[in-house]
Amino acid sequence: MATPPICVTRSCDFAIGHRVIPFGDDPVRAVQCGHLHGHSMRARFSLTHDRQEQRPHVDFDAAHEALMRWLSAEWNGRFLIARGDPWMVPLHDLDAGGVVALPFAPSVENLALHLLLVVAPRLLTGSGVRLVACTLQQARGRKVRAYL
Ligand SMILES: [Zn+2]
Repeated sequence: MATPPICVTRSCDFAIGHRVIPFGDDPVRAVQCGHLHGHSMRARFSLTHDRQEQRPHVDFDAAHEALMRWLSAEWNGRFLIARGDPWMVPLHDLDAGGVVALPFAPSVENLALHLLLVVAPRLLTGSGVRLVACTLQQARGRKVRAYL
């Protein structure tokens, strides 16, 4: 009988600024996050081993550390804004190192999906570990879970 998969979850806290301009069919939330503002966030990364590699022991801690290091270096303490937002260029001119231009609207949903579908596969390829769920929670606010 095959060993069932396990899932290991760790959390880390970070903070971002963002602005989400109205988009799609959700104008209410866009208004809520339509001004320059920030959130304290908690990211929760759920990892499982890659069963195809049949590794008896995989280093979940190293994989979690890689994800947390990326989050700290790339998004923590920065202002996230869509490349197409008309305020991106003026804000970038004011603080080039503090503004991160993204190819999508920086809603919490899109940030969770980006971590799950783009960042984690790039960081974890070959590690024997893969991210199966990413939860982002705003302090005193919504929780969004993107999962495979
Ligand atoms: Zn917001």
